[in-house]
Amino acid sequence: MQELTELLAAAPGRIDAVGDLESLEALERELIGRESVIATMRRSLGSLPPEERPVVGARLNEAFTRIRELLAERRAALERAAEDQLLEEERVDVTLPLVDVPVGHRHLLSQTLDEVIDIFVSLGYAVARGPEVETSYYNFDALNTPPTHPARLESDTLYVDWGEPEDELVLRTHTSPMQIRYMETHQPPVYVVVPGRVYRADTLDATHSPVFNQVEGLAVDADITMADLKGTLAAFMRAFFGKERTVRLLPHFFPFTEPSAEMHVSCFNCDGSGCRVCSNTGWIELLGCGMVDPNVFEAVGYDPAAVSGFAFGVGVDRLALVRHGINHIKHLYENDLRVLEQF
Ligand SMILES: [Zn+2]
Repeated sequence: MQELTELLAAAPGRIDAVGDLESLEALERELIGRESVIATMRRSLGSLPPEERPVVGARLNEAFTRIRELLAERRAALERAAEDQLLEEERVDVTLPLVDVPVGHRHLLSQTLDEVIDIFVSLGYAVARGPEVETSYYNFDALNTPPTHPARLESDTLYVDWGEPEDELVLRTHTSPMQIRYMETHQPPVYVVVPGRVYRADTLDATHSPVFNQVEGLAVDADITMADLKGTLAAFMRAFFGKERTVRLLPHFFPFTEPSAEMHVSCFNCDGSGCRVCSNTGWIELLGCGMVDPNVFEAVGYDPAAVSGFAFGVGVDRLALVRHGINHIKHLYENDLRVLEQF
């Protein structure tokens, strides 16, 4: 009994001194395990005189229960501490600044192209795309451009394959071939824009590139007039350059429109008083347009007496250069990050 009293007196201090769960288990085995003093005494209860057994038995149970309670309390405390430590280690500091990962964005040309398309889609136009390698028929013949026309010379057009006129292949010099392809497969009314890359045998300079982007537009319906052309393009210019813009049409020539015109928009930079952007003229030349030539309608099987229409081709590169004051078209194609990151 003396031994038990000492054991019980020392137990709280020993249990409290344990710093981790593993040591606590070892101490538990020592204090109340199968080989412990308490367990050994219990097993030898039978050797005591019968009148002492209940007293000693009760004392042993009391000691066992007390020590088990102390162990459970300590275990709970150690487990809580371990959990707190884990939470602290895995704590996420949401106030830490992010690692700066550079994110890309759409190229200025793509942005401009999307903007132009959006404006025409909002006016009710469909969007179509066509092949960049075209036959001479679609690029020239069907567009009322005879075999002798200077635009067909190798000095202007990039040929993919010379051959008989019917299987001659060129890199399309404009998006206008899609006027023909679209009208061949659709009946009027037609309201469509065609964005895409076009190619010319040009040497690179500040305003010319062998490859550039166009958006072709075509409207064919009953009673379409030059006033519709001007109104539509003025609406486009105002949507793109601002509400205050005015436009003017100057006579021009294209084989596939009659009459043909060049459209100028009043300078967005100086409001028409003259500046560097508009070469001091107050006007910016932006696109070619005109009324669809009856020969083009005949080439696709439309009746020129029943329908009329207008067409235009706007240079997307030029729109981007003019609006942002970029002084060389090469900046749109060299992909210099110092340039691209500005847009
Ligand atoms: Zn100006």
